Amino acid sequence: MSGNYVARQLQTVKQTLNNGVQLVAVSKFHPAENIEQAYTAGQRIFGESRVQELQQKVEQLPRDIEWHFIGHLQTNKVKYIAPYITAVDAVDSERLLAEINRRAEENDRVIDVLLEVHLAAEETKYGFTPQACREFLDAGTWKAMTHIRIRGLMTMASNTTDEAQIAAEFDKAHALFHELREKHFANSPHFNIRSWGMSGDYLIAQNHGSNMVRIGTAIFGLRQ
Ligand SMILES: *Cc1c(COP(=O)(O)O)cnc(C)c1O
Repeated sequence: MSGNYVARQLQTVKQTLNNGVQLVAVSKFHPAENIEQAYTAGQRIFGESRVQELQQKVEQLPRDIEWHFIGHLQTNKVKYIAPYITAVDAVDSERLLAEINRRAEENDRVIDVLLEVHLAAEETKYGFTPQACREFLDAGTWKAMTHIRIRGLMTMASNTTDEAQIAAEFDKAHALFHELREKHFANSPHFNIRSWGMSGDYLIAQNHGSNMVRIGTAIFGLRQ
């Protein structure tokens, strides 16, 4: 894939983003050269979903890249990425959050996290249900974790062509975000990220409350 392709696709995607919507370029399964091409074209935030692959890329690529871990993160792997990861975008358990906090403290850092909420029709083991997310925040154990910052919510819509259903799921995430912000983060301006929208549905997402989209295929092409 030529560098022109990635730069051109990146430009095309950016032209379609609403003002104030942040772009996480999802580079999983794509080689470091392709990331470099997006970097040269100005992109600084990249998303990866596998620890080992991320480690290799971090060593090869510029230091000022902000890496987001976007997939399911196993607790026993947090220690490998804690020295440099900017954000963990899919936290769905107190155990994982506590481990991120512990490893961030060891590295004298603060790591941003998003809580993953499951609203889609498909069954999955990942993500808080809205009720579990409420209960987790109500319990309050997270307040003692001084090396993480809960920045907002992340969700994925159902894998469907029904745009009304996708929009309705994003609207639910948006409503939950406001409910939780009022209840738990009224005095903390950092709770301000709503991460939903991927290549197939980010145009819907940004019109239904998203201010951070995670886009892979539309920038880098199909994954192997
Ligand atoms: C792979 C992935 C994306 C990007 O998907 P595309 O359809 O390629 O844009 C976004 N979010 C998560 C959590 C992913 O795993």
